[in-house]
Amino acid sequence: MKQKLSASIISFIFIIISFSAFAQSSKEALVKADEQQFLTLQKISHADYPGDSTIDVTYYKLDLTLQYTQHNLIGAVTVNAKSKSAELKAFFLDLQDPLNVDSVISNGTKLSFIHSNAKLNITLDTTLTPGESFSVTVYYQGTPGLSGFGSFEFGSHNGYPAIWTLSEPYGASDWFPCKDTPADKADSSDVWVTCNGSLIAASNGILRQVVNNPDGTKTYKWHNGYPIAQYLISIAVSNYVQHTNFYKYTATDSMPIMYFVYPENDSTALSGISKVPNMIKIFSERYGQYPFIREKYGEAQFGWSGGMEHQTCTSLGSFDEDLEAHELAHQWFGDKVTCADWNDIWLNEGFATYSEAVYFEASQGKSVYDQMISSDMQSAKAAKGSIYVTNISDVNNIFNYNRSYAKGAVVLHMLRGIVGDSVFFKILRTYNSAPGLAYGVATTQDFERIAEEVYGSSLSYFFDEWIYGEGFPSYNVDWSYSSAGNNTYKVILNVNQAIGADPAFFTMPVEVRVTTTTGDTTLTILNDTQSQQFTLVVKNKPVFITFDPNNLILKNLNMLDTIDLTKPSAFSLEQNYPNPFNPTTNIIYSIPVQAKGYIPVKLIVYDLLGRQVAVLVDKKQSAGNYNVSFPPLNKFNEFASGIYFYSLSAGGYKSVKKMILLK
Ligand SMILES: [Zn+2]
Repeated sequence: MKQKLSASIISFIFIIISFSAFAQSSKEALVKADEQQFLTLQKISHADYPGDSTIDVTYYKLDLTLQYTQHNLIGAVTVNAKSKSAELKAFFLDLQDPLNVDSVISNGTKLSFIHSNAKLNITLDTTLTPGESFSVTVYYQGTPGLSGFGSFEFGSHNGYPAIWTLSEPYGASDWFPCKDTPADKADSSDVWVTCNGSLIAASNGILRQVVNNPDGTKTYKWHNGYPIAQYLISIAVSNYVQHTNFYKYTATDSMPIMYFVYPENDSTALSGISKVPNMIKIFSERYGQYPFIREKYGEAQFGWSGGMEHQTCTSLGSFDEDLEAHELAHQWFGDKVTCADWNDIWLNEGFATYSEAVYFEASQGKSVYDQMISSDMQSAKAAKGSIYVTNISDVNNIFNYNRSYAKGAVVLHMLRGIVGDSVFFKILRTYNSAPGLAYGVATTQDFERIAEEVYGSSLSYFFDEWIYGEGFPSYNVDWSYSSAGNNTYKVILNVNQAIGADPAFFTMPVEVRVTTTTGDTTLTILNDTQSQQFTLVVKNKPVFITFDPNNLILKNLNMLDTIDLTKPSAFSLEQNYPNPFNPTTNIIYSIPVQAKGYIPVKLIVYDLLGRQVAVLVDKKQSAGNYNVSFPPLNKFNEFASGIYFYSLSAGGYKSVKKMILLK
């Protein structure tokens, strides 16, 4: 699930925050300008969560008739289950009180029941032993309640009806009797929807039949043959325009992708629709084959500004590429492997958010990935509390963007940095296909166990800090060097972390890049105490140290000025490296400590004919070592292959050197 904030909604949030006592609550709750829903959200309680532990649900069949003008739902829901009790005589299903139960039938026999406090308590007419199966059908009707993000909505678009569901996390029981926990998946499900004949009903799995009823209504019969959590069962109903394209996964096999679009959005949706087959390919290559390949993938528009990863039938407010990628990735992480409980929601949302960056890395390149991770890091720094959600009674707290989404995504980015690309994606594939987890549910411990097995080493420090701990490290780093003879140098690196609460400091492997007068060397140090000194030995004179050059760690960094020892004693202009170069090269020069204060410095590039082609530096600088890139960022296309000269003028010092650009 992902919420999108539109400009009008942001102004709505601003007004609410300005005028209401809810200012302290998450703005996530306020994205829907629906006061009734908002108030419902605050009232929800789950004393009996997570459902009846004495039964194991194996199948749901929802046979629903929608009466739009009356906002009425008439339902016949069949639940198949097995006894988990030594003597099962009675059990309960979760069903919110606004719905009225007419009868409960099992094998043609009416069962006695009591429906109160959101529980439908049913007495069986027999006693069941462990593993014994039973089936009940609940007949009920009424106007479904609204909770969470709008579990069941009789809405509209452009003057036409739109009826949709969004049950996550606690809203399934607002519209059908179920065991309202993700921990107990049914093995399969059927959803039958009877609605006005002008409307189309989308749902999970394959459309087996559309029945034209004598009264002008139609019944859409959808069947899903894969295990499914209660909150991933959905309907989306409107006067849709339909499109289909295909994910071709072998030379001869393809799977349909079905789109259900509001007519007024049909033209704008086409761009997003055209990208989905390649998205499925990109994720399948990295995570394993699309999990529901025997059936379909689908996208159905609904009236909530965001998306929800209903199994094989995502609901979308708009067909935006990032939103589509997020919800599609949930088919692997969320739907195929589902968080066992909402405490571990990052296994859904962190993975889907990270997958947005994975998709754009594959389709647009590493620089787009890096930008998205930087943005996630900005949000992650604002996260409060541990990623493991300790209080799951508050929907806003579970779906806190900074923590469950952004920081969850950054944790995967950091894990990838530690174990490397190939091990990282192997971990994800193994986790997604592991017996007991695939088409089942998982906890953070399950993911950690798989990660450690594939990596071949303990990662408990990592999960303890980043999932169960809070915050992120704040590094103070300084360095110095001395000659060790024979053109080798000893670099002393001091790393000090500000002391936090939980953990007090972060153990992390950290990349350190040493830039010398002839090139770069990148080393990895294990920073495992709060205050630590490292000695690195490098060939050639070190000029710069870059701490975590690839931005693999969520951190604050205070790189203290290099101490005087590193300040040069003479002007110098070094030979650029690499040379010849393509696309860029580094030019290093030094201003000595004898140059007091700031002196004018010019670094200019000329072509073979002596024409000035670039001014790289033209300002006052103090003593130190400087590294300048050529060509300047994003100017590569302006320079042809050939010989160039670069000239440094500083405080009476002048030097010219030659470099070669080879395209
Ligand atoms: Zn999501």
